[in-house]
Amino acid sequence: MLELSGLSVTYGKVRAVEDIALTAARGEAVALIGANGAGKSSILKAILGLATSSGSVRVDGTELTGRPSHARVMRGVALSPEGRHVFPQMSVLENLEMGFIGGDFPALCEDMLELFPRLRERSSQLAGSMSGGEQQMLAIARALMSRPKVLMLDEPTLGLAPIIVDQIRALIGLLKTKGMTVLLAEQNAEMALAATDRAYVLETGHITATGPSAKLAADPAIRRAYLGL
Ligand code: ATP
Repeated sequence: MLELSGLSVTYGKVRAVEDIALTAARGEAVALIGANGAGKSSILKAILGLATSSGSVRVDGTELTGRPSHARVMRGVALSPEGRHVFPQMSVLENLEMGFIGGDFPALCEDMLELFPRLRERSSQLAGSMSGGEQQMLAIARALMSRPKVLMLDEPTLGLAPIIVDQIRALIGLLKTKGMTVLLAEQNAEMALAATDRAYVLETGHITATGPSAKLAADPAIRRAYLGL
């Protein structure tokens, strides 16, 4: 479903990510783990066309390189960005509308309110007045409004209570059963490895390890470096 090859990301003369190869199948959740600044967000931005990159990004067999972001969203990629970036002066429903690209708007909203009951209770509340966890759910729901084939989540658990972290993990499981591909970038390696099927470890812009998440979670070197054990 998602295939990256030879992907490099640059900011001016700085090369943040170099020659990445990554795949994620339909209905598979894949984690990108690594320290602050390793390049996780840069990869997600490059997939959506929001960073200067070279190499190939394919979704469902279609080459996205060179296409503008909106065309990539139409092709089935969506991002819930790091820091959430909900529109604070807009209501929950208005935020959902910002992620809408076509189809049956009322039905899509209803799907989201079904998936996130908290958002239903707050559908007319201004997003800026909601809790961090609620804003995170809204950011994910807004991304889902485009009915993506590949959902990218950038640091969805940052600063949130364990109960919300569990909800996000359960949500990833549910989306997988619907056939969605999930690419999760997380500094919280423990959560990321528990929530996904496979993972890639990123160090200063390079992939240094990859494999089934359960296997990486049991690897002594990964445990020492990323799980604080
Ligand atoms: P974090 O979780 O902190 O976002 P990350 O793994 O997602 O970390 P990136 O944000 O992708 O890492 O950053 C990778 C590298 O690229 C870092 O060295 C960072 O300083 C650099 N970088 C990121 N964005 C920019 C930018 N807009 N201009 C210049 N350098 C940047």
